[in-house]
Amino acid sequence: MSKGLLIVISGPSGTGKGTICRELLRRNKNINLSISATTRKPRNGEVDGINYFFITKEDFEDMIRKEEFLEYANVYGNYYGTPKKFVLDKLDEGKDVLLEIDIQGALSVKKLYPDGIFIFILPPSMEELRHRIEKRGTETEESLKTRLNSAYKEISYVNEYEYAIINDEVDKAVSKIEFIIEAERCRVKRL
Ligand code: 5GP
Repeated sequence: MSKGLLIVISGPSGTGKGTICRELLRRNKNINLSISATTRKPRNGEVDGINYFFITKEDFEDMIRKEEFLEYANVYGNYYGTPKKFVLDKLDEGKDVLLEIDIQGALSVKKLYPDGIFIFILPPSMEELRHRIEKRGTETEESLKTRLNSAYKEISYVNEYEYAIINDEVDKAVSKIEFIIEAERCRVKRL
């Protein structure tokens, strides 16, 4: 049996990658979302086991020691990590897995799985990115600045990814990802 595809999506905070991933999953029931563990506090409406596994720093560090993460990173002062077992089991079963992770994480995964599909989501413009983060209303002025500064740095890594998609319209962005996935399924050879 052939292995499933590993789809890795990254992009600065506020690019709408969360919305894109949700829509991609809604339209493609065969894609399995990897739920990350994090030490960040849940935002309003976030549910443990659905958005993230919200765990303590001690438990996270315990999982690091036990090598239970495929990758992990410290993002904005909190740990985020991809539990290894779920991803490897699904890929072995021939099922596709989606990771929505930051750039540090994506680069670690790329070393382990160069065959993955690495997709970077870009905002239509930096002004639009600021609007989107502000509109979300979850950031203080300080953390807004941190996220925007990180966004500039993160965008400079776009060349590490195979694909870059500008999210000016969610539906179109998702369709482009679906085309990429279809093309990857038809691929005979890797470079
Ligand atoms: P947020 O706090 O907005 O949910 O996520 C902050 C950042 O952490 C986002 O860029 C998100 O993609 C990233 N992230 C979420 N889960 C993981 C993970 O398991 N590993 C890594 N490396 N980054 C993650």
